[in-house]
Amino acid sequence: MKRPPQATRVALVTGGNRGIGFEVCRQLASQGLRILLGARDAALGRKAAAQLGVEFVKLDVADPDSVAAAAKRVGPVDVLVNNAGVYPSGKVLDEDSSPWRECFDVNFFGALWTCRAFVPGMLERGYGRVVNVSSGYGAISEGLEGPAPYSVSKAALNALTIKLASEVGDDVKVNAACPGWVRTRMGGPGANSSVEQGADTIVWLGTLPADGPSGGFFRHRKRIPW
Ligand code: NAP
Repeated sequence: MKRPPQATRVALVTGGNRGIGFEVCRQLASQGLRILLGARDAALGRKAAAQLGVEFVKLDVADPDSVAAAAKRVGPVDVLVNNAGVYPSGKVLDEDSSPWRECFDVNFFGALWTCRAFVPGMLERGYGRVVNVSSGYGAISEGLEGPAPYSVSKAALNALTIKLASEVGDDVKVNAACPGWVRTRMGGPGANSSVEQGADTIVWLGTLPADGPSGGFFRHRKRIPW
């Protein structure tokens, strides 16, 4: 199959109904891409998509059946932004395992299911960009700060980024992004970055040219250690 030209490329953004994901949809749409705004809640997703004039896709990344069903409905995706994320508190020795399961189901397995659903098509068509929205809290080099279930799940997402990048050729670029500390429901009102700033590196990685990097971790468009 032929590579799609820039203007007709299709981008799927998970957790696109609010926060950084919504802004990534807005910025990619302004560059002329066709946007599929993924959201687990249909009412919230439809409302957000209507605000931007883009398409809504019902997608709960924690549910592999939901991902498979969405993949059947939407067809080829050229740019996959694994943005959906959760941030429950918890420690390694806490008795309650639910924050661990929730973090891994959304932050790690969510990306695994979407990659399995959409990357084979990218390989067939010879073009793809995968952006895994990670966090500085998932950087071993930065001490894995933050709640344990969250930081360990983001470190696992980073590892997935490295392994997938090494499995695919040059045509499909797979990178992780740290958006910084961003004023969203997750980041809180005291964060030092706007959603526009938080989305910038993600959008840049989603639209990399053919000679762009793959298998890296980026913040403010600069490579950072894992
Ligand atoms: P946010 O405002 O809390 O938004 C999170 C989004 O993820 C929401 O749209 C939420 O949907 C969605 N989501 C959660 N579970 C989902 C699931 N199972 N299926 C589909 N969507 C799901 O957070 P944000 O600040 O925009 O964060 C976006 C990404 O950036 C996350 O991966 C986060 O870890 C990362 N990040 C954020 C910061 C920060 O400072 N904000 C820093 C580092 C990394 P609902 O509305 O249905 O809940």
